[in-house]
Amino acid sequence: MNEMKLSKRLQTVAEYIPKGAVMADIGSDHAYLPCYCVLNDLASAAIAGEITDGPFLSAKQQVEKLNLSSLISVRKGDGLEVIQKGEVNAIAVAGMGGSLIAHILESGKEKLTGRERLILQPNIHAYHIREWLHKEGYALISEDILEEDGKYYEILAAEIGDKDAAYEGISFEAGVLVGPFLAKEKSAVFIKKWSQELEHLKNIHQQIKGAAPSMENQQKLDELSERIEILKEVLERG
Ligand code: SAM
Repeated sequence: MNEMKLSKRLQTVAEYIPKGAVMADIGSDHAYLPCYCVLNDLASAAIAGEITDGPFLSAKQQVEKLNLSSLISVRKGDGLEVIQKGEVNAIAVAGMGGSLIAHILESGKEKLTGRERLILQPNIHAYHIREWLHKEGYALISEDILEEDGKYYEILAAEIGDKDAAYEGISFEAGVLVGPFLAKEKSAVFIKKWSQELEHLKNIHQQIKGAAPSMENQQKLDELSERIEILKEVLERG
């Protein structure tokens, strides 16, 4: 992977950047995504934000090597603190867990004007992000799922709007867990991912059932049963 050839995962994130946007890539690491977007005229300018020294330096070096310093500003800081309010109209946060992405959005929400498109790519636990988006009045506008190197990735795009629209025709609980657009589309990758997860949860359920009964175990069993039922319903509906 480099600034001209992204992974399938980051390529899909790039496809959701509105043409000509000023974008921020939070947790940019090597800055491949903003470099690719600027070099391919997807973005007119970009900010690459990084909290960690090593990735911050590699982002800086990458941008300098490509002579893109006038178009891409590399900034060190935590989450959205690297942007000024109203400075960007698209924000990507990719390659982290869903709870960290939701935390970055929550702790930086005073930086959001409500006019930015958010493009979020959790590696796991996307439900934290869907819950946050719904709580804050964002409408999911699109979702993608893909498999790369044996891992599943979801990409969520959201804008301020009708937060309930995407959840029409599916229970909110199920939609938040697996993605309302993804559940309706039911691609082969989606079915593969959630069928594996269903089997995994059933195995854990069996193991706990065989262990000594306790209040704690009963609570875990109840939670697992609920999730198993949701997944069965999602996978079985036509
Ligand atoms: N976004 C790139 C991608 O998708 O390939 C890099 C993903 S890398 C696994 C996660 C990066 O996010 C790391 O470089 C880490 O330092 C950075 N990061 C984690 N928490 C952050 C935060 N609160 N603010 C900014 N960057 C953060």
